Amino acid sequence: MDRIDELARALAKLPGIGPRQGKRFVYYLLSAPESERTRLAALISSLGNDVRQCPECQRFHTGGSADACLYCADRGRDDSLLMLVEKDQDLAAIERAGTYRGRYFVLGGVLTLSGKGAIREKELLNTTRRRIVGGLKEAVLALSATSEGEHTADHVRLLLAPYRNQIKISTLGRGLATGSELEYSDAETLRAALAGRKEA
Ligand SMILES: [Zn+2]
Repeated sequence: MDRIDELARALAKLPGIGPRQGKRFVYYLLSAPESERTRLAALISSLGNDVRQCPECQRFHTGGSADACLYCADRGRDDSLLMLVEKDQDLAAIERAGTYRGRYFVLGGVLTLSGKGAIREKELLNTTRRRIVGGLKEAVLALSATSEGEHTADHVRLLLAPYRNQIKISTLGRGLATGSELEYSDAETLRAALAGRKEA
């Protein structure tokens, strides 16, 4: 296979990138200075070296030598709240909104109606049990307002059902438009959704 096609196909595997965009990236890189290509290649090849997965919230981070990420290691945060998000980018969006001060858990995906997809069930149950001992009172389901997000939320409610006498389960309030992804919601919308969360 020709090198242009080979790289285009590799890029097309990235989320949200199709074959045509893959090709566009390749031609962009061909026209870019060699130093830019070298820097990009170095960043990609070293990505796994200093990135760790937080054993508490499961997010990927580069936080120094500690295993736990800065949000989980921060003793000033509210242990009574645990927010469940689909992916690392959603957690980043909530942090940018700047009003949530509780803990996080990254589910690592969604479940589709056709039975595809996976979430970190075992880790979620371990974290929930451990956090209940540490004072957890409420799990906030912060999933996208999509059919997959709702389906995933239903499944998480089933998983957490045995703990319903110890914690309440809430979902983000309206304000998040139907079909919208948390990652792309603006800070004001997220603040309103958080303030308007209700038990469900
Ligand atoms: Zn963490």
